[in-house]
Amino acid sequence: MLTKEELIQEAFKGLRFAYAPYSGYPVGAAVLAKDGRVFLGCNIENASYPAGNCGERTALYHAYAHGLRKDDIAALAIVTNGNTVAGPCGICRQVMLELMNADTPIYLANRSDQIETCIKELMPLSFTAEDLK
Ligand SMILES: [Zn+2]
Repeated sequence: MLTKEELIQEAFKGLRFAYAPYSGYPVGAAVLAKDGRVFLGCNIENASYPAGNCGERTALYHAYAHGLRKDDIAALAIVTNGNTVAGPCGICRQVMLELMNADTPIYLANRSDQIETCIKELMPLSFTAEDLK
């Protein structure tokens, strides 16, 4: 099983594949499965901006497309080359809420700093499937 540091390095591998010609802000991500597999993601932008996809969502969709579900996910790392450790956008937080367990570790990092959090911390007072019952 990868360590936190190793998973962050995997996310930086994902960042190399980013397609970010409009923002110039590449993002990488990596989902660590409990069986040890790693699913990379990156942001993929589009001239029609809303059609783009963020790196962390790409990684989660990558994992789900390979059959993983929330109980199979051990951790998620999200990285940038920016000067700050960036938090996920609101859409990604909603997707993480749906596709990850509340306390699964989420590592946010840039080249110099790291923050460890989870979706329960990132998305208080959220709207979930429980609200639809
Ligand atoms: Zn996002």
